[in-house]
Amino acid sequence: MNITSYDVVNPATEEIVDTVALADVADTDAAVARARRAFQSWRKVAPADRGRLLRRFAEVVDAHVEELARLEVRNAGHTIGNARWEAGNVRDVLTYYSAAPERLFGRQIPVAGGVDLTFHEPLGVVGVIVPWNFPMPIAGWAFAPALAAGNTVVLKPAELTPLTAMRLAQLALEAGLPEDVFTVLPGKGSVVGQRLVEHPDVRKIVFTGSTQVGKGVMAGCADRVKRVTLELGGKSANVVFADADLEKAAASAPSAVFDNAGQDCCARSRILVQRSVYDRFLELLEPAVTGFRVEDPSLDTAQMGPLISRGQWDRVRAYVPDDAPVAFRGSAPDGPGFWFPPTVLAPVDPKAPAVTEEIFGPVVAVVPFADEDDAVRMANEGEYGLSGSIWTRDLGRALRVSRGIEAGNLSVNSNSSVRYSTPFGGFKQSGLGRELGPDALHSFTDEKNVFIATEE
Ligand code: NAD
Repeated sequence: MNITSYDVVNPATEEIVDTVALADVADTDAAVARARRAFQSWRKVAPADRGRLLRRFAEVVDAHVEELARLEVRNAGHTIGNARWEAGNVRDVLTYYSAAPERLFGRQIPVAGGVDLTFHEPLGVVGVIVPWNFPMPIAGWAFAPALAAGNTVVLKPAELTPLTAMRLAQLALEAGLPEDVFTVLPGKGSVVGQRLVEHPDVRKIVFTGSTQVGKGVMAGCADRVKRVTLELGGKSANVVFADADLEKAAASAPSAVFDNAGQDCCARSRILVQRSVYDRFLELLEPAVTGFRVEDPSLDTAQMGPLISRGQWDRVRAYVPDDAPVAFRGSAPDGPGFWFPPTVLAPVDPKAPAVTEEIFGPVVAVVPFADEDDAVRMANEGEYGLSGSIWTRDLGRALRVSRGIEAGNLSVNSNSSVRYSTPFGGFKQSGLGRELGPDALHSFTDEKNVFIATEE
């Protein structure tokens, strides 16, 4: 094996946590070949047994939640509270889809001269390409339904954050999943990722990452008419109307954008506030931001940790030049680590890059709007359409604005976007296809129609 390696760095201390060997194209081809062989037997495992194995995998993950969470704190700088949720989410998604093999129903369609049946057939080897911001959940959203539907999986974690995915692959074997059914292959995007996209025996790609790389992945998949799900960037709006519970909207706005240090595709990084309550909202927002606890992410009290890398720090810093209109900001530790304080920009030119581009850091712009139409128009500006929030006490308005905003995941009087039992994905250039929920399974199958003649 042609080994090159990668030093995994703890973003809170800048210390090296581990050194990981990176796979090359030959390793990728070998992994795909093994996964293809494993597919022949995995697809034939009886539905109840496949479900049982996935439930056992979930139980083993559950028994290792604390270990996985601590590993993610070291590797990604996530707060321990978040990391526990993330490991628990892998368990929950596995449990949710463990019921699927026995419920993967086809249909019997009335036709003349015979019986018509449909089957949802697994695709084969599924390639999963994961970003660094939520290494565990994003992996689980793809591999759990893919395995449940009878596919085998080769997963490439992000270079920066391979450790929890590698551990999950070990736990899968411990739970009794057969060899090569679920393979984790650390490597570079331009090498392993690209090879998975190009490889003729990889029948589907699930890609989560930037819109720019996602477009290339989609083009690569087009060459082979390869199925593809894309979960891409976002620039979501948190829309606060004058009739809302302003205290609640302001108190929860910081975690809606600063959670995971803003490195969240659903981050509500634009707060649009009705002009008549704009000043009042900022007054309420300030203590919530300055009180946001940015500290050693292994502490139970931490609400935010560091950014993932020096490169990401530089990128975020570029959106907050020395003359940026900073209204107020929180604090961050000194010393080693890629720390960036929660930062609120206001008033800010609505055309400024900080308002229009995905920053992927703890920076939020607060922009006033006039009325409902204005709010919807502003929320829909730009190429993204992933998530967003609407704060109002008027039910009719909540529904009108929810229908008006072009985004896949909206919440009213709440900022939560993700539930494993409901569909998740983007409008416009935020993505293609949906993960999670009752229907995601079908994106890992092709429908087959079989007609059986009954005429003599
Ligand atoms: P990225 O696009 O740089 O990388 C994502 C993954 O793609 C990594 O594993 C990388 O190695 C791989 N990759 C890079 N080049 C490739 C190539 N040519 N072929 C195949 N794979 C390649 O993204 P990132 O910086 O790791 O993650 C941040 C981005 O992900 C943000 O834009 C964020 O919004 C997005 N994201 C979206 C969702 C969602 O569900 N919509 C969730 C999380 C993150």
